[in-house]
Amino acid sequence: MKKIFFVLSCFISVFVIAQKNNDATKYASVITQQDLKKQLTIIASAEMEGRETATEGQKKAAAYIEQQFKQIGLKPGNGNSYQQTYNVYQDELKSASLKLYNTSFAFDKHFTVSLFNITEGNFQINEIAYVGFGIQDSTRNDYKNIDVKGKWVMFLESNPSNENKIPKRNSSFLKIRTATLKEAAGIIIVSENFDKLNHSIPSTKGFMYVKKPANNNRTTPILSVSYQAASSILTKMINSYEDLKNIATGNYATNIYLTIDKETNTLQSSNVIGLLEGSEKKDEYIILTAHYDHLGKRGNEIYYGADDDGSGTVTIIEMAKAFSLAKKKGKAPKRNIIFMTVSGEEKGLWGSDYYTQHPIYPLNKTSVNLNIDMIGRIDPSYKGDSLNYVFAIGEDKLSSDLIPISDSINQHFKIEIDRKYNDPKDPNRFYYRSDHFNFAKNGVPVIFYFNGVHKDYHRPTDTVDKINFDVMERRARFIFTTAWVMANRNNMLKRDMPLNMPSSR
Ligand SMILES: [Zn+2]
Repeated sequence: MKKIFFVLSCFISVFVIAQKNNDATKYASVITQQDLKKQLTIIASAEMEGRETATEGQKKAAAYIEQQFKQIGLKPGNGNSYQQTYNVYQDELKSASLKLYNTSFAFDKHFTVSLFNITEGNFQINEIAYVGFGIQDSTRNDYKNIDVKGKWVMFLESNPSNENKIPKRNSSFLKIRTATLKEAAGIIIVSENFDKLNHSIPSTKGFMYVKKPANNNRTTPILSVSYQAASSILTKMINSYEDLKNIATGNYATNIYLTIDKETNTLQSSNVIGLLEGSEKKDEYIILTAHYDHLGKRGNEIYYGADDDGSGTVTIIEMAKAFSLAKKKGKAPKRNIIFMTVSGEEKGLWGSDYYTQHPIYPLNKTSVNLNIDMIGRIDPSYKGDSLNYVFAIGEDKLSSDLIPISDSINQHFKIEIDRKYNDPKDPNRFYYRSDHFNFAKNGVPVIFYFNGVHKDYHRPTDTVDKINFDVMERRARFIFTTAWVMANRNNMLKRDMPLNMPSSR
């Protein structure tokens, strides 16, 4: 009796949910693999040049998405505009000279300036703290008895030979960080293969960044020098890079005059935003996001970014189409839906950061952010039904409504919703690595949909021909249905759970 009753009640509840989601299912089927493919073939084409933030390719993609939003019938999401622009800065090295007493070192032949962060100025250097390999960790301390605060530090790019197997631990990046934390005035890296490097620097343009440093002189200048230049600076007679490894660490008197000139260029990038107005809850929103930028080009090689995140971008477009069609047939959502494709994601979540710092629609009235970043492929290491799964990340935080909603919708879809990446001990930390995180940080409940990684991740080989459109269509319809339910439910999602951010972030 009990058992029968249980089965019957299950049947009833499934039936009720199926009824309620009937329209959702109907309009979800407007999203087809054919259309997704058509869109992605354009977004991930050579013409878009890999869509790097603040480049021509990104602007072409933005114009295309804007035109799609317009054609679909979305309203401009930012006043009269479909775009929300923000400034991006890029330093360009204009000139640099390095003089030891009265001898000049040739730029590019014996020294270069790191383009990582170009610091301009005139520097008189009277003492160098030479710290060998420049490593300070649990196994060794090259800084022993050397106070480098306020001094220029010189270290070798390479690692002690017995540690070559673990180059990451002592990468230049980590060594720079160590010296910077010790408040070194400047850093000189002795490059192992300086003489073998390509001596005609293809670009003097530095890395892009979004916030102008308040005081340019406070960033640490970084030089790379040849072993010959290093030996002159330390006044040591040596014949090879190897010889430097045997030189004592400590302070060396010198007389260097360094000048660096740069120019800061201001570029622009944008988020593309379209609005579909709801019928009842006019001051409430849900926001659907994906990033349309990718890595651009390296030389002539294009990073197409079909999965990352062309797949999310075209899903946003096709979901907009389905919602818009529903509205035309009298099935407008209760809440407003914001469709936003952002740029700057690959550089550091810039576009979503800008939006959440300058929200066009109040974040406390934005019920949820559903973010899609890579849903067109299959993770080859996936253990379950690889043709029918999606990773959902963030559902366990901020709102206890998220999981029950996903699960109820899934009674119909029967996708494997894999929540393993919610484990705070997961070393991948995917929760922090896409645009939803900026919404979560600001209290908006989020779900991040993701297919996992694969061998073409962040490679030029992430192309349209490798997308599994069948799987992608199923995921897109599932996300659409979730958005439908969230846009139409009576109440906004409750915010009753902590974000649980580790204090280190
Ligand atoms: Zn990426």
